[in-house]
Amino acid sequence: PAKIKVDNPVVSLDGDEMTRMIWATIKDRLISPFLDIPIIEYDLGIKHRDETDDKVTIDAAHAILEHNVGIKCAGITPDEARVKEFGLKRMYKSPNGTIRSILNGTVFREPIICDNVPRLVSAWSKPIIIARHAFADQYKSVDIRVPPGKGTLKMVYEPEDGRPQEYVVHNFDGAGVGLCMFNTDESIYGFAKSTFAYARMRSLPVILASKNTILKQYDGRFMQIFSEVSQEFHDVPYEHRLIDDFVAYMIKSDGGYVAALKNYDGDVISDISAQGFGSLGLMTSTLVCPHDNGKTIETEAAHGTVTRHYRQHQAGKETSTNPIASIFAWTRGLSHRGKLDHNEELVQFANRLEKSCIDTVESGTMTKDLALCIHGAKGADRQFWVTTNEYIDAVVDRMVNEAVVDSV
Ligand code: NAD
Repeated sequence: PAKIKVDNPVVSLDGDEMTRMIWATIKDRLISPFLDIPIIEYDLGIKHRDETDDKVTIDAAHAILEHNVGIKCAGITPDEARVKEFGLKRMYKSPNGTIRSILNGTVFREPIICDNVPRLVSAWSKPIIIARHAFADQYKSVDIRVPPGKGTLKMVYEPEDGRPQEYVVHNFDGAGVGLCMFNTDESIYGFAKSTFAYARMRSLPVILASKNTILKQYDGRFMQIFSEVSQEFHDVPYEHRLIDDFVAYMIKSDGGYVAALKNYDGDVISDISAQGFGSLGLMTSTLVCPHDNGKTIETEAAHGTVTRHYRQHQAGKETSTNPIASIFAWTRGLSHRGKLDHNEELVQFANRLEKSCIDTVESGTMTKDLALCIHGAKGADRQFWVTTNEYIDAVVDRMVNEAVVDSV
């Protein structure tokens, strides 16, 4: 069939190791044959980051801001061993951290559900999307050890022009600990806007979880801001739940909502949900920028470069790395491009590619990580799994054959 014409570009950010190989295959086999699309490429592979003193990462982030859609491959965050392995000039910061500080968005983690891949929490038949407010609270707090003896812990706010306000936190009779943390209205508004924009994109309701009964001012402010922003997004159903009520509901529910969580709660609960849904190879991640109500996004797989498999590949062994989350980084980015451009054909293509990935697994053709989920240790037998390329071949077959069926 004729290729679908896409007018505006997407920005592709290349990465490292196993996922870099998968990235090339996705573009060759699943994108180029079907789409006539301008792709602006940035090579964020560790060698090129080093050659450009990491300027390429900053350039890529600005390109995403300009073109609204960034699709990112996993890349190495160097530690000392990596600096030695690649002879790097220095220990660069995580590319995700650099990009996030420029795009200033909220990260949404969403599991991909295949009916035959068992979930630890069996009730979860629909995705639970975790939106973590990745700014401040405990992560930018001051925490102290209180020494032995009597003393008073106070919190003081000094306005630039005005009288200081002082609050007694506790009168200590002996040693202990203390903490002071903060957040800003600006960041909470950004968090709320990104959350509602993502929920609208996925046609799902928003649940904000907090402990406003205890933190009346602090969590109360989160509630006020969410309630205010929800007025702008009146088509997105919204409710607030106490965090303890929320976790109980989450375990019993069948999923199908976006959970907006404060920084620490999001840190803990996103790992609970990732485990509950099963494989890392089935978890996607989308960064949504708050400005323009979510017009700019960056999508990626939630996993890393799968170094363990890359070492096997380097040793000449057959590998079976799950490419689904990387493919979904493409489909989510393309679908967003389609929505911005009112290109319905492109949105349909992205949906069809996602369905082909899931149908392929549900028909029994899958990579080893999923075979292990389904069959336990027996799943390691070669008959139960295919290589990454064999899996992608099966997805391509489905895409081509269904396109033929559609056009008959
Ligand atoms: P990883 O996610 O690459 O792998 C962790 C383990 O999960 C692997 O041993 C593997 O068993 C499993 N796994 C993950 N994805 C899989 C897939 N698609 N198919 C099958 N199994 C899969 O994390 P890691 O080993 O801690 O890190 C490897 C490299 O990736 C590091 O250099 C790290 O800096 C980088 N990293 C990058 C990102 C990112 O770019 N967003 C995120 C995490 C780690």
